[in-house]
Amino acid sequence: MERLLIKDVLHEGRTRNILIEGKCFKDLDAPAEVADAKVLDATGTAILPALYNTHTHAAMTLLRGYADDMPLQTWLNDYIWPFEARLTPEDIRRGSEIAVREMLESGSVFFNDMYFNVEETIGVVDKAGMRAAIGITVMENHTKAVEEQKKEFVRQWHDPTGGRIQLVMAPHAIYTVGERKLRECAEFARDNGMLLHIHLSETETEVENCVKEHSATPVRYLDRIGFLGPDVIAAHCVHVDDGEAGILAERGVTVSHCPCSNMKLGSGIFPYARLIKAGCRITLGTDGASSGNNLDLREAMKFAALLAKAGGDPELLPAEEVFRWATRSSAEAFGLAAGAIAEGFLADCLLIDLSDIRMQPCHNLVSNFVYAADSRCIKHVLCDGRIVV
Ligand SMILES: [Zn+2]
Repeated sequence: MERLLIKDVLHEGRTRNILIEGKCFKDLDAPAEVADAKVLDATGTAILPALYNTHTHAAMTLLRGYADDMPLQTWLNDYIWPFEARLTPEDIRRGSEIAVREMLESGSVFFNDMYFNVEETIGVVDKAGMRAAIGITVMENHTKAVEEQKKEFVRQWHDPTGGRIQLVMAPHAIYTVGERKLRECAEFARDNGMLLHIHLSETETEVENCVKEHSATPVRYLDRIGFLGPDVIAAHCVHVDDGEAGILAERGVTVSHCPCSNMKLGSGIFPYARLIKAGCRITLGTDGASSGNNLDLREAMKFAALLAKAGGDPELLPAEEVFRWATRSSAEAFGLAAGAIAEGFLADCLLIDLSDIRMQPCHNLVSNFVYAADSRCIKHVLCDGRIVV
């Protein structure tokens, strides 16, 4: 098994040597020399867990800056969907390449994706050495033949990366997928041990239309049809009331909060206090680069923390908590023993350059990383025990 010794790295206030064996952290207090181990000189850096982006559309980097500053429905109907209708598999590959590079360089080793031509994105993730949950997107207007093709793809699936990629069923949203298909999709996912990924309660319009059509708000509607469970990743959840927050917590749903996208599309302000108080598992996403404009999850941490406090409570969502959303909570939601620097955990980590001016002085490493840093502070990124940046 390959061994990598990270030498002289700052971890929890002390300089030490950390040994990685294969994909995992083996010893957080290793000796200065380990037989057969490659050495990574980490002098002047600190180690932190890498970031996990729980909601994006990677290939949409191609639409970065293409249609800004307009409401969600106009943006989707008049710009995004017509543009996407013209994309080729080659385009998807190029968009995914840009996305993967951007995510890795800004410290994310994982993304939960929802798009199409998934083979292209899978190939790019494989080559880059990172992780992903690849969504098999389901829309109401997909034909029976297309649906069958997707199911066949899932049945034939072999992960080319040896464990870095999982497939997820991704019905787009309650306003683009009908009740019958949502039920079928959930059943198929559960029969095949897959997670579910959906956009939920993103805008007021979505809530109003759902109430008109189903006499229930979106979370209650999905709960009524048996969709919600600990295997569901729900992106946005901006417009949820106290009762719905309770349902999300009780069903064990993972919320993917996308602060930049919500602010830019004017979707509303995430109900931080309500969802935290209810005990929901909250994680962070960037959404696609067409609405968040970048895939920098560190920046999403900062925006989330600031937006939470902007309501008037500076104690809401401290740096440590938002950092946990972006690391351990996210990894856990996807069944990964990762998201913390711990023996036996997957060796996904960042080496932070402490000589960078944004990291000085360093009273609190996590606080600096959340509030002051940018991608330039990240010297190396490791995923699955291998140096990927
Ligand atoms: Zn989205």
